[in-house]
Amino acid sequence: MTVFRKIIDREIPADIVYEDEYCLAFRDVNPQAPTHILLIPKQEISSLAGITGDDHSLMGHLLLKAAEVARSQGLEENGYRVVINVGSDGGQEVYHLHLHVLGGRAMTWPPG
Ligand code: 5GP
Repeated sequence: MTVFRKIIDREIPADIVYEDEYCLAFRDVNPQAPTHILLIPKQEISSLAGITGDDHSLMGHLLLKAAEVARSQGLEENGYRVVINVGSDGGQEVYHLHLHVLGGRAMTWPPG
């Protein structure tokens, strides 16, 4: 069981900013930008590499909600970044699919 499942189940606390039937959004405990929110599906999917055609509408839902969360956090005017780390080379630490929504400062490219 990952730490994100425990957050969904309210076994450990998190600063939740959005929730619906399919997903949960909460502030990253170790923020890499002034606003750093994690958006996760409630369904257990280990990583982007684990999605299938059955996840078509869920993945669309997550992107729509990432944009909505960014808007609600006031990030739309200046922009923001949405990141999904995949596997070891991608820098993924928690194996429960999550989108990082980062904003409040100018991002650099290429990423580290
Ligand atoms: P990854 O490296 O897997 O893409 O990102 C995992 C993220 O989860 C990291 O940014 C890390 O700070 C965050 N994180 C890990 N454990 C917790 C936790 O218990 N609570 C919250 N809110 N974020 C966490």
